[in-house]
Amino acid sequence: MFAEKTYIFVYLILFFNFTLGIYVLWKNPKNKSSQVFFTISILAVIWITSNFFEDEIQNENLKELFLRIDYASGILGLSMFLFFCLSLVNSKCLERPLFFSFLFIIPSAIAYLSIFTNEIIIGYQNLGSAILPIRGRLGLLYDLVAIGYPLAGLTTISLRYRKMEEQDKFKIVYVYIGMILFITIVLLTNVVLIEIIKSSPHFKEYSRIGLYSISLFLLFSGYAIARHQLFSIKILMIELLALGVLLLSFFQIIRSDSLFEFILNFAAFLFILSFVLILVKNVYREVERKEDLQFLSDRLSLANAELRQLDRAKSEFISIASHQLRTPLTSIKGYSSLLIEGTYGELGDLQKEVVEKIFISNERLIHLVEDLLNISRIEAGKLEFNFEYCDIVNIVEEVIATFEIVAKKKGLRLVYERPKKIIPKIKIDGVKIKEIISNMIDNAIKYTPKGEVVVRIKKAYVIHERHGVMCQNEVVRVIVADTGIGIDHSELDLIFEKFSRGAQISRFNTEGIGLGMYVAKKVINVHKGRIWAESAGRGQGSRFVLELLVR
Ligand code: ADP
Repeated sequence: MFAEKTYIFVYLILFFNFTLGIYVLWKNPKNKSSQVFFTISILAVIWITSNFFEDEIQNENLKELFLRIDYASGILGLSMFLFFCLSLVNSKCLERPLFFSFLFIIPSAIAYLSIFTNEIIIGYQNLGSAILPIRGRLGLLYDLVAIGYPLAGLTTISLRYRKMEEQDKFKIVYVYIGMILFITIVLLTNVVLIEIIKSSPHFKEYSRIGLYSISLFLLFSGYAIARHQLFSIKILMIELLALGVLLLSFFQIIRSDSLFEFILNFAAFLFILSFVLILVKNVYREVERKEDLQFLSDRLSLANAELRQLDRAKSEFISIASHQLRTPLTSIKGYSSLLIEGTYGELGDLQKEVVEKIFISNERLIHLVEDLLNISRIEAGKLEFNFEYCDIVNIVEEVIATFEIVAKKKGLRLVYERPKKIIPKIKIDGVKIKEIISNMIDNAIKYTPKGEVVVRIKKAYVIHERHGVMCQNEVVRVIVADTGIGIDHSELDLIFEKFSRGAQISRFNTEGIGLGMYVAKKVINVHKGRIWAESAGRGQGSRFVLELLVR
């Protein structure tokens, strides 16, 4: 019975190693590691087969032949591990033919000597159930290579581990685990527990467990190179746990005493195996999804950083360009106003009109440059405020005064309705608020072909909710109403966006670029105030309201 089971067990192991080798090669045939892995798995199959038959077969000559093949395939398989490690770390050694041949010739020569000469083994001593090899003169050399090559492999991957790409490191970890499991089981069965095993009636079978455990090494390494990039501690833990359970149920098969028990245990093993496969697959899927998400979010944040960098560069450019524009514009302003005032001699009516046009256009350009500068300051977070108590009525009146000529020239009535109640002083950045009011009136004139522009200042109370409590606040409103082109309902909020202009606005005015209201909104937000537009629609005039808190 035991012998029968041993056969099945060995067949299973052989089948497993062989299919694993084929699978790994099939997954990635051009990859060096896969090729070396395939060679190792085939050598392992030969090694296990010959080791098995050297004990089982009765024919004396065949016994010795299998022993020699056992030795040869063993040394080739073990030394292949070094090549496997070199390929894992993409070592340049594999591309140097001389070095490669040197590494390859030694184990090949030993394999040759094992089969065809008496240098490594002379023969064997029959112990009944097993055989004991009688070693030749170069037996020690065999041991040195058998230990030295795998050790060199492990050293190589250990030294290169740090320099490896993060996604490749997991391969090394898996190979290590596989190799350590293999070595530990060999040491346990052939060294540490040898005395106990020797006294067992199944000494022969137990002593082979070490050799069979090469399948564990193959399992881990094959898995590492067939599976790309996915490495997580969570997966590793689950896999190790699953493997432990599988091994237990596998040993259960070997320990069964009757055929019935054997079949039962085997069925249990298959059941556990399928369960483990489903479990691991699901964990994989979950980790894979997480990694995909991570990858996407990494890419997004990278793109985001690049965009921010681009935006910063753009703002810097605007800032530098605006500063350069400011100086000549200021001197145009200065000289044209001196010309208008007659400092350089009285001008004729026509000349005066032309210079006034120069002055007005220049004023617009100055506003525009100021807006551009403000934008770059806002985006760099460098817009500075100088809050102090100001008389808003004064500010509005000053601004209106500067627009009187412009409005008159356009044939518009610029009406200022003096406030009926006393308007309290409010804490604001006077310069910036003046700029905004100036922008509002400028727009009203720009976008009103005929009729009037009315400016009002009002005190009002607003109720709002703060931390769940209703509060009442006193506010001051500056309202600029016109009888101009009006604003479509859908555009009322849009006009406060960056570079945003009304749909057909360029028909009426080609100078604006859609920054004034955007800057205004940003500045008013810092003041904790509000600015908004009202209009009954196209051609119905508009009302711009600026609301500031009294504090
Ligand atoms: P622009 O430089 O285009 O005037 P603004 O930010 O000052 O930029 O205004 C944004 C847009 O709001 C304008 O392009 C225009 O479409 C609309 N707008 C502003 N004021 C008025 C107004 N008084 N009447 C009609 N549309 C206006």
